[in-house]
Amino acid sequence: MRAVRLTAWGRGRPTLADVEPPAPRGREVLVRVEAAGLCQSDVHVLDAAAGALPYQPPFTLGHEVAGHVEALGPDADRTVTGERVVVYGPWGCGRCDRCAAGRDNYCDRRAGLGWHGIGLGLDGGMAEYVLVPSIRHLVPIGELAADQAAPLSDAALTSYHAIAGLRQVLGEGSAVVVIGVGGLGHLAVQVLRATTPSRVLALDVREAALTLAHRSGAHSATLVRADTGRRLREATGGRGVDAVLDFVGGKASLELATASLRPGGELVVVGSGGGHLTVRKPGLLPPGFRLSLPFWGTRPELAEVVALARAGALHVETEQFPLSAAEEAFELLRNGAMRGRAVLVPDP
Ligand code: ZN
Ligand code: ZN
Repeated sequence: MRAVRLTAWGRGRPTLADVEPPAPRGREVLVRVEAAGLCQSDVHVLDAAAGALPYQPPFTLGHEVAGHVEALGPDADRTVTGERVVVYGPWGCGRCDRCAAGRDNYCDRRAGLGWHGIGLGLDGGMAEYVLVPSIRHLVPIGELAADQAAPLSDAALTSYHAIAGLRQVLGEGSAVVVIGVGGLGHLAVQVLRATTPSRVLALDVREAALTLAHRSGAHSATLVRADTGRRLREATGGRGVDAVLDFVGGKASLELATASLRPGGELVVVGSGGGHLTVRKPGLLPPGFRLSLPFWGTRPELAEVVALARAGALHVETEQFPLSAAEEAFELLRNGAMRGRAVLVPDP
């Protein structure tokens, strides 16, 4: 079968290879892939120098996967036979209490695993088939379109998990800023609108992203400028915003975020843009400032995200490419030319 693989560190591009289709053993499940999303973190993986990540190439990329249960290992639970599913991606050790509770994203043995999940150190879904270790990683999607379902498992789930930690500050009359309205950010806007009464203020440096923000339900969408922090204060009667979701995580976005928050405000850093904050008391951070660094999301949250999508509350903006055009799709993503989420689908 065809597979989009990382074959060596530092190449900056994937390899389209022919590999043996896997056969499920033990409790494994074989999923025939209908769609696999492309993520900015795939670009980071392709660009990484040897030693920067704990993975051992070669492996197949693709950590946002939707498909159809094709075959089961002899010891697998048979209840999912024939189901269409989305794959919960951040596979952990499967034995610690975090994993037992479906919180593999915070697996206690994460540091020693050598992978971060499907397509991140282990074979992923940018292929015709993918092996999943257990049915506990599968969430049924019913009739949801595959290109809509695949990005739920990271772009939507990561956003949902980041927002879940903010519920107590995002009540009636609150305001929240979303910095970066790309694959994740446009879903964060939709999740905020669907699950909180908060006023959603979207920011980006790209004009096209503002259109996407408006279409996703943002109350306002503006280009980042030198005076954006001041304007955000004005827009909240001078007090500042209750929370900021930073999907960029760079120096400028972190500075903007901390300058915009009101006392007791919450900053959630999702993007890995290499910026850093200095914590000092007293200092420039607002009093009562709280920070979180969420990673991906939990399995129960993925089920909630799928339910939201099936109820029509989430619409993923996607651009579809055949698996054989993966390299072109990666180039567009790398150059910031992708609107919403790129999704690979099987070749016709
Ligand atoms: Zn990702
Ligand atoms: Zn674990």
